[in-house]
Amino acid sequence: MCLFKPTGVQGKVEVGQQSVICTGCGCLCDDLDVAMAGGQLLEVSNVCLWGLSRFFPYKRFHPKKERRRILEPLGRLNGRLQGISYGAALEHAAEILGKARRPLIYGLTNTGSWAQEAALQLARNLKARLEPADLAFKAPYYHSVRKHGLYWAPLEVIRDEADTVLFWGANPLHSCPRHLVRYSVFARGRFTERGVEDRQVAAVDLYRTEVAKFCHLFVQVDPGQELHLLKGIREHLQGSPGPGPAVKGTRRLAGFLSKAEFGVIFFGRGAVYNQGLAVLDELGSLAAHLGEKQPFVLFPLASDFNSGGLYHLLFNELGVPEAPDFGHEGGLLTSAAPGDFDEVDAILVVGADLFWFLPEDQGRALQDRQVPVVSLSPFANRTTSCSQVVFPVALVGLEAAEVAYRMDGLPMVLKKLLPTAWPSDREILLDLMKAV
Ligand code: SF4
Repeated sequence: MCLFKPTGVQGKVEVGQQSVICTGCGCLCDDLDVAMAGGQLLEVSNVCLWGLSRFFPYKRFHPKKERRRILEPLGRLNGRLQGISYGAALEHAAEILGKARRPLIYGLTNTGSWAQEAALQLARNLKARLEPADLAFKAPYYHSVRKHGLYWAPLEVIRDEADTVLFWGANPLHSCPRHLVRYSVFARGRFTERGVEDRQVAAVDLYRTEVAKFCHLFVQVDPGQELHLLKGIREHLQGSPGPGPAVKGTRRLAGFLSKAEFGVIFFGRGAVYNQGLAVLDELGSLAAHLGEKQPFVLFPLASDFNSGGLYHLLFNELGVPEAPDFGHEGGLLTSAAPGDFDEVDAILVVGADLFWFLPEDQGRALQDRQVPVVSLSPFANRTTSCSQVVFPVALVGLEAAEVAYRMDGLPMVLKKLLPTAWPSDREILLDLMKAV
């Protein structure tokens, strides 16, 4: 249990307790308790260091390094970001987005479902492209699901039944820290009462990560070897290993997977760095092959807390969990691949830090072309520092009520616990819609 109390709160205070859902990652842990007094948050229990940064203005994993909260709407005047009124910020943002020929709405995986709905509507109105921040990670997975028709299970079922767990290009200690203790490795389930002793755990990665410490088998591969390794595993499982040299660990991984009674492959962003579509296709094919004899799940470890909600919305509204482009000349076009930033002439960033993830040359190209950026964010980040207009927003699940979908698709209601002066993402998007 992690109990955190910010410095500066001393003596006896009238404290109210509430349970709360953490929006730190796709686990959406629902067993947290917070103590509040006088409209201020005092303590959070059960939270991990990553999630702590959702409740207090500290950097992820660095509770001593503060993050700067944005306190007022900002507009760029004479090259510098300066405080402006909400109305002026709306007007400026509406002008930027309304004038654009190829606007892009980017991110949305770290915001609530109601805001995602508003953003999709705004994309329709603006004839914009809407691109989820983790499209390169998730789209190959959905492609694989459609192609191979894979088995699926909620996290609780995985906790109760999975006896064989493989992490592929994933480090849950960094992307969703409590996943290991709540669901996948150390958790004690109905048929896995002894936790890690009732499970076999393996990992495949390009680097020897901390995950290796508790894995029974860790296979380190060189970049580009993943497909070769996956094909080798398939051949071993089918009893016909190919003649060429196999990637080190192929036989042991095949043996590991073949012993499963209920298996799960959790993959992370590392799985899509090289030939993502092909790797996910092979992983899906492997999971489908193993799933012919016993349940075998292929599961994306989403670190953004409402990535699932966004693809759920896209699937419901458009029929495909891909990035829609409403400005395409021939009508709606959807794409599974991240778009070309070269043609974009205005960007609205919500629930993401675009300039953190963008390769440096692409970020610089956007700035060289002076592509205006409008961003919505509770904290200052790389994107806000490159923006023309910045809207401060309420923290979802703490200062604003919302709905989010856990990484296994379970919808969860996020409560508003604290009073705030800032509007939510959704409110700003609805105002923008009217202003545009
Ligand atoms: S694992 Fe994720 S949801 Fe759970 S407490 Fe940590 S950051 Fe929050």
